[in-house]
Amino acid sequence: MIKVVEVTAASALNRSGLSELDYTLNPYLGCLHACRYCFAVDMTPHREAREMWGSTVAVRVNILDVLKKEIHRLRRGVVGVSTITDPYQAVEGRYRITRSCTEMLLRNGFRVSVQTKSPLVRRDVEIFSQYRSECDVGITITTLSKEKSRIIEPGAPSPESRVAALEDLSRNGISTWIFYGPIVSGFNDDSDTISGLLDVARSTGSRIIYDRFSGYPSAVRMMRKSGFPESSISPGEPWWNSTASIIKQASISAGVKATAQDEEFLDLSISHQSTLRQFGEKDKT
Ligand code: SF4
Repeated sequence: MIKVVEVTAASALNRSGLSELDYTLNPYLGCLHACRYCFAVDMTPHREAREMWGSTVAVRVNILDVLKKEIHRLRRGVVGVSTITDPYQAVEGRYRITRSCTEMLLRNGFRVSVQTKSPLVRRDVEIFSQYRSECDVGITITTLSKEKSRIIEPGAPSPESRVAALEDLSRNGISTWIFYGPIVSGFNDDSDTISGLLDVARSTGSRIIYDRFSGYPSAVRMMRKSGFPESSISPGEPWWNSTASIIKQASISAGVKATAQDEEFLDLSISHQSTLRQFGEKDKT
């Protein structure tokens, strides 16, 4: 059973520990997508959402009001929406908090980088279209197989619907990217997945950022409980070096830009900063 609780937020924009982002904005705590590999569980500052991962979500109902006050005193920068939850999970359909906050940020000169698995993001395409050079939208596609997706991210929208969202955003001239991850050894590291994602990237003009599964304690527990073997959970460096090299080669042949998460974030950081310069902001140093 799904439980939605309303809570208040003391702050809206938090300083990001990621090099490509200045701030993070998480309108929700917890996530109904229930991904077995989720790294965000251990970082979620709401006990019930953390303990009932995938079935309880806390809605930060006052976050827009808090944001309105913060934006007057904070330096402009890049805001990641979101980093420990999915900003377009089902509750956003009712609360519309991601939409309001994103619009407020863009209107006030912040750059917004969205990441989601939900086609609900299509609802806000007209906002993104007004700020094409100040935003980008990443869609996570872990696998193109509906069956595999149900195993590893049972509450998330189907891969097909995510591809459709990417196509829609791209048609509307929004800068898009695919997050291919986490890659799990023996599960979604096969050549069909890689070539399928490269096809989607090429047809939508998207970049690909890829990354492997990281062994955060709760994620490891959930993966084990879902029956994933240790060889998938901790496959070792040789597997990753070989997988990354296969992806790199395949992407070069396909004419798609695909980079490992760390490398790509360096690129994103440079391109985000060049957008902010148009607002008269200085580089972070
Ligand atoms: S969509 Fe993201 S935040 Fe939500 S459960 Fe999946 S990995 Fe975690």
